[in-house]
Amino acid sequence: MAQLDVREKLEILADAAKYDASCASSGTVKRSSVGGKGVGSTDGGMGICHAYAPDGRCISLLKILLTNSCIFDCHYCINRKSSNVRRARFTAKEVVDLTLAFYRRNYIEGLFLSSGIIRSSDYTMEQIVEVARSLREDHDFRGYIHLKTIPDADPALIHQAGLHADRVSINVELPTAPGLRRLAPEKSAERIEGAMRDMDAAIADAGEARGKYPSAPRFAPAGQSTQMIVGADAATDGDIVLKASSLYDRFGLRRVYYSAFSPIPDASAVLPLKRPPLMREHRLYQSDWLMRFYGFQPKEVVAAADADTGMLPLDIDPKLAWALKFRERFPIDVNRAPREMLLRVPGLGVKAVDGIIASRRWRKLRLADVARLTVSVAKLRPFIVAADWRPVALADKAELKPPAAPRREQLELFA
Ligand code: SF4
Repeated sequence: MAQLDVREKLEILADAAKYDASCASSGTVKRSSVGGKGVGSTDGGMGICHAYAPDGRCISLLKILLTNSCIFDCHYCINRKSSNVRRARFTAKEVVDLTLAFYRRNYIEGLFLSSGIIRSSDYTMEQIVEVARSLREDHDFRGYIHLKTIPDADPALIHQAGLHADRVSINVELPTAPGLRRLAPEKSAERIEGAMRDMDAAIADAGEARGKYPSAPRFAPAGQSTQMIVGADAATDGDIVLKASSLYDRFGLRRVYYSAFSPIPDASAVLPLKRPPLMREHRLYQSDWLMRFYGFQPKEVVAAADADTGMLPLDIDPKLAWALKFRERFPIDVNRAPREMLLRVPGLGVKAVDGIIASRRWRKLRLADVARLTVSVAKLRPFIVAADWRPVALADKAELKPPAAPRREQLELFA
């Protein structure tokens, strides 16, 4: 590998990290350096500069790889062994120094560190852990740290990562085991899920210990997350939704991130030539939201997908798609319906539903009252009954989709 200076390495290794979507910093505990102790804060306080990556996915984190060299050959990955990219590698100390320097200049509020696998999984994991250890122990760094762990590494090393990081993540990579076998033959779904299971148990143990003894060490207080690549294999949206829900249930994940596969330079021949529409990724995030905050069962989200293709519609959101498929359940009376049914009304968010429930204790709600609680009442009018409003029965209105769906517009020819 040619000798590169830190700036050149940063250029290569920050660019190589952009394919990882799982870098949001939600759900962490508050750590602060107010009072002159330590460096950094997870609190987003004064002087934190929110920097967006070109794809808009990452905020205020130094998001880099330790190295983009790898002994594995996952077909979808630009850093795979057979890829013809320029390679670089940071030392642990270089990453520590960069993080501190960027933090002190208010460029970042934390670090997101991932890596290709060099020499062995254990060796690579040791280097990743060393970065976090040094930041926390040698420099008393109190900013956010998200570490990508390597499932095949020694569980003791992965445990060390959890002791220093706010969040750890282990990528499941592909929604189905056959997809993983085909596109990442050196990876094993069992080993990935085993590492997630161990991490979940360690997070739960640490939570319990801290409940009894507040001085017990923290362990990945922002939990664990994972990422699935969408569109690189034949998995349908239905497969992805069911996989995500099973991961949430079994391993207590905070988030599943979906990353639309993007064709990489020098791509492997087994990959599709075209990326899936970005809207597909967006619809999957919406369906994820439905399961986590709107009480939808995974099977219900799957029911919103096309029965033949298993894909969610791209032109309307999954909640509206579900409502149109099960139109016999509407309209819903905003003055009587339980919270779980109100949450199913297209156009009603959690805040609006809670507002409706609070207001209807005092008086019967009219359409104008509901309108005041929502961004637009036009979308939900066909689905609700209010004191002064009753729509035409949905079952009688076969052409409902066009008015409910966003209006199609002719694109400007010379914009
Ligand atoms: S192990 Fe990770 S870095 Fe290496 S080829 Fe596979 S996805 Fe890429």
